[in-house]
Amino acid sequence: MVDLIASFNCKGEHHLIIGISRVATNRMNSIINAGAKPILIADVPFGSLPTSIQHYIKSGIIKHLERNFKIVDLTLLGRAECNFIVDKVFVSVPMSQKEFKYKTYHECCRLRIPIHVSDSNEFSSFSILSTFTSGDFSVGVTTSGKGCKLSARILREMRNTLPPNINDICNNVGKLKAQIEEEDNLNSLDNNMSIVGENDEDATNTIELISLVKEFDMTKKQKRLQKMSWLLQTTEYFPLKALADMSLEGLNPKKNLNDFKESNAKGMMGTRKGSISLVGAGPGSVSLLTLGSLQKIQEADLVLADKLIPQEILNLIPGHTKLFISRKFPGNAEKAQEQLFQIALHSLMKGERVVRLKQGDPYIFGRGGEEYNFFSKHGFVPKIFAGITSALAAPLLGNISATFRGIADQILICTGTSKYGDFPNLPDFVRSRTVVFLMALHRVVNLVPILIDEKKWDPQVPVAVIERASFPDQRIIRTKLSFVAEAIVSCIPKPPGLLVVGYACQALVKPREGEKWVIEENLDNQY
Ligand code: SAH
Repeated sequence: MVDLIASFNCKGEHHLIIGISRVATNRMNSIINAGAKPILIADVPFGSLPTSIQHYIKSGIIKHLERNFKIVDLTLLGRAECNFIVDKVFVSVPMSQKEFKYKTYHECCRLRIPIHVSDSNEFSSFSILSTFTSGDFSVGVTTSGKGCKLSARILREMRNTLPPNINDICNNVGKLKAQIEEEDNLNSLDNNMSIVGENDEDATNTIELISLVKEFDMTKKQKRLQKMSWLLQTTEYFPLKALADMSLEGLNPKKNLNDFKESNAKGMMGTRKGSISLVGAGPGSVSLLTLGSLQKIQEADLVLADKLIPQEILNLIPGHTKLFISRKFPGNAEKAQEQLFQIALHSLMKGERVVRLKQGDPYIFGRGGEEYNFFSKHGFVPKIFAGITSALAAPLLGNISATFRGIADQILICTGTSKYGDFPNLPDFVRSRTVVFLMALHRVVNLVPILIDEKKWDPQVPVAVIERASFPDQRIIRTKLSFVAEAIVSCIPKPPGLLVVGYACQALVKPREGEKWVIEENLDNQY
């Protein structure tokens, strides 16, 4: 059982604080910051209260009742519009008063009043988290009553990993979201496109948005959705600290494209000839980056990175090196590619060392071949540096031996999205084959019926969905082809992810009888 974590909107509420202590004093400060009114019931003379509390009482912000608590206070001191029932109760009395805590807790439960009793988990209906707040950003930690000192320590560690401009990041993303909604009036579209819960913090399900976006022949409606999907993808993939000054214009790969094109077209070659390397970064974890790729990253003047390259790898780029992250989002792949080409050419003409840092292996669905041709045509023949492809690393990290004597004698790597967003020519079913589908999870609902009905795949064939392979939060969903769409749709996606289909999926990990799917996560993977 896990507690439901939420944050209360307490504006205007009446909160009862029973007993005075250092904890209660801190609590009253938080209650005031949350816009609620603290009512302190403590049989302590005014002069003996902490000076900060005396100050609040004098200015009428805290009401002090200098007496002991009575059960009727719960139903007398609340707001008139709530039948005088108080909104929350905080008890801070000595450990020995167990009987008192017990009675107060039960009465609060009967009246549905949330209650927190310091140091008494068993008499509390909610916990107080250790929190860090910077403007609109807050993070809270709870150890479910195991130790508040420990949660404070963990919070401190977490805080140190956050970018210092976290509040600017929140403000900027909020501003961009509001801009899109305002410009396009997305919320008031006269259709049923709006997605329920889209504004909930935990609703990061972007499948609907991404699958609705095309690159060409877009209707007005699709263009609006495109912008929203760009923002969602940037929020998902870009380095956090870069989100603080991202603009809607900056997300659009058309920005400055013509300037670059013109300048490159008449560009004079410098005395030093630039060089370009297509470098594979592996599936995500730094430990799966090759030494060759690392060396190239560290020697570059400019790194042009795919948006899927994780922060840990970007951190290996020296501070003086220029970094540009691709704006390739659903529905703008062509323009974004052109933008990368033009930026690279610009730098090459200046004689710089350019690294095109590509996720996984540069020649597996990364347009590496097209990039090779483009740069060669412009007089810069790229050097290619291999990367470990997610197509092979992910099955392994999911404990799937993609070939297995007697079970699978071949592997096929296939895309779920080909040029212009169409389905590719999907393969026929071969029982002894392991098929890895990249770029397919967002359209799995349409993919599965084609495989089963048209291509005659066995609906019972085992499937593993492997998301964020090699990242600490890697997730695996093990199921069968007939259930995979239902399984994926029922989970919040954790991109990037791929599908592994074939009997090899259950060669080492046996299926659990009677369960449609099994989810493995939080495995504490440190690859
Ligand atoms: N060149 C890359 C593939 C680029 S296509 C490679 O060799 O790995 C992008 C797709 O790769 C994603 O849509 C996803 O299907 C897959 N992918 C990339 N990294 C992944 C990872 N760490 N875990 C799972 N799938 C991943």
